[in-house]
Amino acid sequence: MKTAIITGISGQDGPYLAKLLLEKGYKVVGTLRSYRCVNTKNFEYLGIENRVTIEELDLHDMANVIRIIQKYRPDEIYNLAAQSSVGLSFEQPIGTFTFNTISVNNLLESIRLFSPSIKLYQASSSEMYGRVEKMPITINTPMHPVSPYGVSKMASYFMITTYRESYNLFVSNGVMFNHESYLRSNNFFVKKVIRDSIAIKNGTLDKLVVGNLNVKRDFGYAPAYVEAMWKILQSDKADDFIICSGKSILLRDIVEYVFNFLNIDKRLIVEDKNLFRPNEIEDIYGDNSKAREILDWNYDMSFFEVLDILIEEELNNASNK
Ligand code: NAP
Repeated sequence: MKTAIITGISGQDGPYLAKLLLEKGYKVVGTLRSYRCVNTKNFEYLGIENRVTIEELDLHDMANVIRIIQKYRPDEIYNLAAQSSVGLSFEQPIGTFTFNTISVNNLLESIRLFSPSIKLYQASSSEMYGRVEKMPITINTPMHPVSPYGVSKMASYFMITTYRESYNLFVSNGVMFNHESYLRSNNFFVKKVIRDSIAIKNGTLDKLVVGNLNVKRDFGYAPAYVEAMWKILQSDKADDFIICSGKSILLRDIVEYVFNFLNIDKRLIVEDKNLFRPNEIEDIYGDNSKAREILDWNYDMSFFEVLDILIEEELNNASNK
C-alpha cells in the first residue's frame, strides 16, 4: 500500500485529493497547522471521515517536517498548504511570502537529506504569470507576477525546478488555474457570489457587493483538477504542468449566470471600487495540451456546467441545514 502525505488538508483541494487517493488504495496522512483547524465537516461531506490520519505539522519548522517524514515514510507528498488568497496577500505580504516559500524549502531539504525517493507535488499557481504578453499561457511563458501571492508561488516554483535539476529528485509543479467547488472557502469570488445570491433569494441579504467584474479568468472544477495532481506524480518523469480549462470567462458573466439561475434582479449587483485589486490582470487563460498529452488528463467542462453543479450543491446544503 502506498502512503501519501497531503499538507493543507483543511483547505478546498485537500479533502478531494484525499478521497481520490483513498479510492486508489493509499494510506492518507493529512497535515494541519493546528488540530484546532480540523474541519471534519468537509471529510463528512465527502464520506471520508475517520479515514485520513491527521497530524499537526508546522511547515516553518524543518525538524517537524523531518519527524513526520520519518514517522510515515511516505511515497508521495502533495504540498497544498499555502496562504492562498491573492487579496489577503496584499494585506499580509510578509506572512504570505515567508510561509509559502519556507514551507517548500523545508520539504525539499528534508527530502534531499533524508528521503530522496519521495515524490513531491508542489501546488503552483497561474498567478505566477501575472501580466503576460501572449496567451494562452504555457509552461514556458515568462513570469511577471503582480501580487505578493504570485511572487511567493514563483519563488517556490523555481526552488522545485532547481532541486529537480541539481539533485535529480522527483519533484514536480502543478500550475493550477482557478478551480472551484462546494468546499471552497467563503472569501473566494465564485463561492461568495453563489452564497450571497442564495442569501438574497432567501431574503437575508439585500445586495451582492463585488469588486471589478470586467476581468476574465480561466476557471475549472476542483474534483477534476486533483486528479491531475495525482497523475503528475504517476508520470514517468518529474516535470511541470499547466492545469486549466483553456478558456477564460468574464466575472460579470458568472454573476449574471447565477442571478439568472436564481431569478434575481440584476440591479442588486453592486461593484465597489474599494474592492478592486491594486494591480489587476485583465484576462488570463492557459494551454493544457501538455497535461492532456503526457498525463492523459482530459478536461472538457464548461464553467457554466460547473456553476450548475455548485449552485445545486449550495442550494441542497442550504436546505439541509
Ligand atoms: P486553501 O483552501 O486556501 O487551503 C490552503 C491550506 O493551507 C489550508 O489547509 C490552510 O490551513 C493552509 N495554510 C494556509 N496558511 C497556512 C500557514 N501559514 N501555515 C500552515 N498552513 C497554512 O487552498 P486550496 O484551494 O485547497 O489550494 C491548494 C493549494 O493550491 C494552495 O497552495 C493554493 O495556493 C494552490 N492553488 C489553488 C488554486 C485554486 O484555485 N484553488 C489555484 C492555484 C493554486 P488553514 O485551514 O488552517 O488556514
